[in-house]
Amino acid sequence: MRSEELFNESKKFLPGGVDSPVRAYKPYPFFAEWAKGSKIVDVDGKSYIDYCLAYGPMVLGHANPDVMSEVVMQLKKGSSYGVPTENEIELAKLVVKKVPCAEMVRFVNSGTEATMSAIRLARAATGRNKILKFEGAYHGAHDYVLVKSGSGAAGLPDSPGVPEETTKNTILVPFNNVDAVVKLIEDDGDSIAAIIIEPIMGNIGFIPPREGYLEFLRKITSENGIILIFDEVITGFRIAEGGAQEHFGITPDLVTFGKILGGGFPIGALSGKTELMEMLAPSGSVYQAGTFNGNPISVTAGLATLKQLDNSFYSQMNSKGNSLRTAIKDIIADNGLNYHVAGLSSMFQIYLTDREVWNYDDAKTADTEKFLTYFHTLLNKGVFIPPSQFECCFISLMHSNEDIEQTLDIVDNGMKTIKKL
Ligand SMILES: *Cc1c(COP(=O)(O)O)cnc(C)c1O
Repeated sequence: MRSEELFNESKKFLPGGVDSPVRAYKPYPFFAEWAKGSKIVDVDGKSYIDYCLAYGPMVLGHANPDVMSEVVMQLKKGSSYGVPTENEIELAKLVVKKVPCAEMVRFVNSGTEATMSAIRLARAATGRNKILKFEGAYHGAHDYVLVKSGSGAAGLPDSPGVPEETTKNTILVPFNNVDAVVKLIEDDGDSIAAIIIEPIMGNIGFIPPREGYLEFLRKITSENGIILIFDEVITGFRIAEGGAQEHFGITPDLVTFGKILGGGFPIGALSGKTELMEMLAPSGSVYQAGTFNGNPISVTAGLATLKQLDNSFYSQMNSKGNSLRTAIKDIIADNGLNYHVAGLSSMFQIYLTDREVWNYDDAKTADTEKFLTYFHTLLNKGVFIPPSQFECCFISLMHSNEDIEQTLDIVDNGMKTIKKL
């Protein structure tokens, strides 16, 4: 297999053979040759129905014709200028139009940079240092948020090289828990700058907020001068035109974006109320900068993507997602199994546990070893899902009924395989 050869070669030059850890699964990951619509094809010519979709960005499917033609036109005019372009205004206007909390936008290069900058901004605005984050939430790979979940209030670094001095200001709470937040704010509210939350947790599978939880957070943060940051790097432009904040009807102070916003090219953004956003340099003194910020290719691809995300897109994604999840639940039941299926709109995950999953501890009851067998059964038969129980699967507009029918047969196969274990 060419993928296996490439992986052996790759391991000599790239740590672990990949550029981002989740991509490395055993015995070797497939290497991509090309992708179109709902399919990704590997260097051995094998085609997969793709439910990983680059971990989120490709909502319109791979190689969307409009995005491609706009990008090619822009490429001919140059790919990076270091001066502003009109399309940055256009994309910012579209974000402001779609997203409830968005009044101004700063474009950066990744979701990681977006959350890092949002946290800095929240600290500057409040003059406080602590931030509160949820166990199992992922906000990118920078030091402030790379904190192991655990019972203790003060965070321990999740990786060697992250100083405790940094993460001692990052406080962990269990998702969907009211009392823990109330207690932390009673004890220490005056030193908390921000609560950062994925309004739907998408990096530990799929965990929705309990009814009223986001409302509770909105209220308690407002009352205590704490900035509420929604990290919508996954949910932004996905769950609804205005993201999870529109879907749940809760408006945060700041929001971070990435993934879909770049239409398959690297991007990130932070956005929020004008009075906060104007604190960023050069308007204000909170430093944030980047050589590739607002890159013309990414911005053009983002514009061409966001323009296609209309009401009809969201209703199609909802009905595709609902029918897929219902059918998966039926397959699980027909096999006499009791696994938990979670999801909303174009997001879904099967947890190999019989528990309902409302937080990190619930998620951790899932059988990760079985999940890898399930993953390989699907992969073998031509369905690519993320190789981890704790990622989320996505569908794109290009996933046809035929794709879904085929997938369901293969999911059935996967369930029958793990049932025997
Ligand atoms: C992917 C992700 C990030 C990080 O974005 P990158 O572009 O990979 O740096 C941050 N937050 C959430 C919720 C994400 O899913």
